[in-house]
Amino acid sequence: MQVPPFSLDAQLDALGKELDQAVLQVLRSGQYIGGSVIGGFEQAFAAAMGVPHAVGCNSGTDALVLALRGLGIGQGDEVITASFSFFATAEAISAVGATPVFVDVDPTTYLMDLDQIEAAITPATRVLLPVHLFGRPVDMERLCGIAARHGLKVVEDCAQATGASWAGRPVGSWGDVGCFSFFPTKNLGAAGDGGALTCRDGQLAQTLRELAVHGMPRRYLHTALGYNSRLDAIQAAVLAVKLPHLPRWVERRRAIAARYRQLLAGLAGIQLPAAGVAGHSWNQFVVRVPACLGGAKACAGSCTPSADSACFGMPEAGCRDWLKQQLQEAGVSTIIYYPIPIHRQPAFAPLGYGPGSLPVTERLCSEVLSLPIFPELSEAQQQRVIEVLGAVVQPLIAA
Ligand SMILES: *Cc1c(COP(=O)(O)O)cnc(C)c1O
Repeated sequence: MQVPPFSLDAQLDALGKELDQAVLQVLRSGQYIGGSVIGGFEQAFAAAMGVPHAVGCNSGTDALVLALRGLGIGQGDEVITASFSFFATAEAISAVGATPVFVDVDPTTYLMDLDQIEAAITPATRVLLPVHLFGRPVDMERLCGIAARHGLKVVEDCAQATGASWAGRPVGSWGDVGCFSFFPTKNLGAAGDGGALTCRDGQLAQTLRELAVHGMPRRYLHTALGYNSRLDAIQAAVLAVKLPHLPRWVERRRAIAARYRQLLAGLAGIQLPAAGVAGHSWNQFVVRVPACLGGAKACAGSCTPSADSACFGMPEAGCRDWLKQQLQEAGVSTIIYYPIPIHRQPAFAPLGYGPGSLPVTERLCSEVLSLPIFPELSEAQQQRVIEVLGAVVQPLIAA
């Protein structure tokens, strides 16, 4: 049995007819840019995210750029965020001319360590940009409290967390702006690129809307240098069909995560993600596979496993990479989010973060492994993942 990390097959079987119709309707209408299909989706999305305003745009990356521009962030400004994220989080900060300032993450939640924020604040700091990584919500009550005390804006990177909430309130409704991605593998995926911004302030929503269309409040009047970053009508039509299913899909993700947590709990050597907060939307189920403590070549089984890690005695690669390969050979596909932290990416070398500057982030990048999780993952497929993982890991632990 093959277990893919992600698949849309079953979803398309269920929604295919409706999607066909919705897409064909847009094609026949001839209104491919702008129009009621987009407006309708924006309203439905705003309602689902618990905010008065949502603005469609071309991608999650653009949503971040537009949010920062909309708040007037640019040259000379600093934005505090996490380096354990997809590259776009920091790329967007640099794209508007500002400087990303990274704080380390918590080793159990994988989220920005809120205890480290205040020490990173300087007179140039303007924005806190938390990332609800893997669908796990950041403690937004605390984060917004810190922002308020220091007069900072809050931009939420909700790209992986559509459908997640903190304290019963959807992510994206806490900060000044919420940034969502409809990349196909996210919790609500389009049939291509797409994104949205959420906010409570009507004036800001209007600014964001104009920035996304060439800084153009009315036809051929340009009051700002903006972008061509619209959500396509076809994508809005696809998303409008899918949106009503989001709560059920998130529930399925929660059930799959709970089952992984229950059935992998006894597997020594594999560290499970921290118990979910109620509002976790589980875009990924990410375990940690400790690297060989003895250091790659020196080890060969001679290193001493510590409390939270076990060396599998694999001399060539970190145990995570070796395990990934073993699983792949047994038909179970896994993914590494992310092998290189943002602050160690060549593109960000000019920022000057050396090796060891964010130790938890760096360690996670060498240990994390995402197991298959998507709403249509069958019980049999999940069972297979659990069996294969046990079959590979258990003999090593026992040895
Ligand atoms: C996917 C993602 C983005 C970017 O979204 P795109 O729609 O691919 O541009 C930004 N931040 C995070 C954390 C993401 O996972």
